[in-house]
Amino acid sequence: MSVQERYFKGNLPGSELTSFKLGGMVELWQVSSLTELKELLSYFRENGRKWRFIGGGSNLVIDDAGLSEPVIQFSRSSAFSVAGVQFSSSSVDDFLNERFLDHRKNPSTFRAGETVEVFCGAACQLMSLSRESAAIGLSGLEFAAGIPAQLGGAVRMNAGAHGSSISKVLSRAWVLDENLTLVERGFEEFGFGYRESGLRPEEIVVSVGLKLTAGDTEKIMRERKASLDYRKETQPLHLPSAGSVFKNPESLSAGALLERNGLSGIGDGEISFSSMHCNWLVKNSGNAKAESVFRLVKLAKKKVFDSEGVELKSEVIFWKS
Ligand SMILES: Cc1cc2nc3c(=O)[nH]c(=O)nc-3n(C[C@H](O)[C@H](O)[C@H](O)COP(=O)(O)OP(=O)(O)OC[C@H]3O[C@@H](n4cnc5c(N)ncnc54)[C@H](O)[C@@H]3O)c2cc1C
Repeated sequence: MSVQERYFKGNLPGSELTSFKLGGMVELWQVSSLTELKELLSYFRENGRKWRFIGGGSNLVIDDAGLSEPVIQFSRSSAFSVAGVQFSSSSVDDFLNERFLDHRKNPSTFRAGETVEVFCGAACQLMSLSRESAAIGLSGLEFAAGIPAQLGGAVRMNAGAHGSSISKVLSRAWVLDENLTLVERGFEEFGFGYRESGLRPEEIVVSVGLKLTAGDTEKIMRERKASLDYRKETQPLHLPSAGSVFKNPESLSAGALLERNGLSGIGDGEISFSSMHCNWLVKNSGNAKAESVFRLVKLAKKKVFDSEGVELKSEVIFWKS
């Protein structure tokens, strides 16, 4: 079978690939192992094609005109887990769906306060990982309850909430670089900041090691629940969105700035700034266009800059060809 036959999944609308459920058609290509990923990237390189990489699609708005570049994704079942210290290039190709602990450790023998390294493929769902690690008494991912990311996307964005973020628990990651070389990168070799990781545009996170701390399962569960309850009370989770639109500037939260500049509830009927959480744009109708998002983002930036002198920066990523 040709590369195209093996990995091309068809032309799909942005509505099927992103949590905002917006945007035109894209070519979707899926791979399930590091070997396949390298093969596909080499193929695009030979054919002079630039590409993009998508994780959970929860921080993206795709242009209504679609994209000319192919979009690569890890297939749902893929999880490039790395067997801890026994890491070797072949073990990266192990096709494991389950996230797993360092195999030498048994959850029933954790000592309180012990640090446990957990290895996961980049395609694993952050929310499931948060839930499953909590269930075996590992603390560190309580903040991630309710973040609909894949682990790789969460590393790229340094996803965070409630004063924590992925960078606080990441020990290392295996990254495929621009030369198609798999490199192990320790925490200190990233350039983590607020919603940024220092990863270069063409680098792809393949596997991640997280340092979690053994603790009291009930307490961890309570914290996760508090975090989820807070989201339900304060965020418009019933409508499609990409979460917070703007990064919080140092002065005041983006939501508060937008609110005091009259943007709450403002929109065109199809897309609007949520009256529940003003820093969220939400999709109110099936016909909504990405163009409405671009227009509202521009409008909000101008209003806030004109009246406050603050330049809002997008947290959401806009994909246009
Ligand atoms: C309901 C809701 C709640 C949210 N709450 C939060 C929150 O509390 N905190 C927060 O920080 N964010 C939040 N977000 C935003 C979003 O979930 C995060 O930004 C998340 O990290 C995006 O991960 P993803 O896998 O969906 O990435 P995508 O949206 O698919 O991609 C985002 C970027 O990451 C890159 N990327 C994806 N996978 C990889 C990979 N394996 N290697 C390298 N680059 C990759 C993409 O190329 C793109 O540049 C929320 C979004 C929604 C819809």
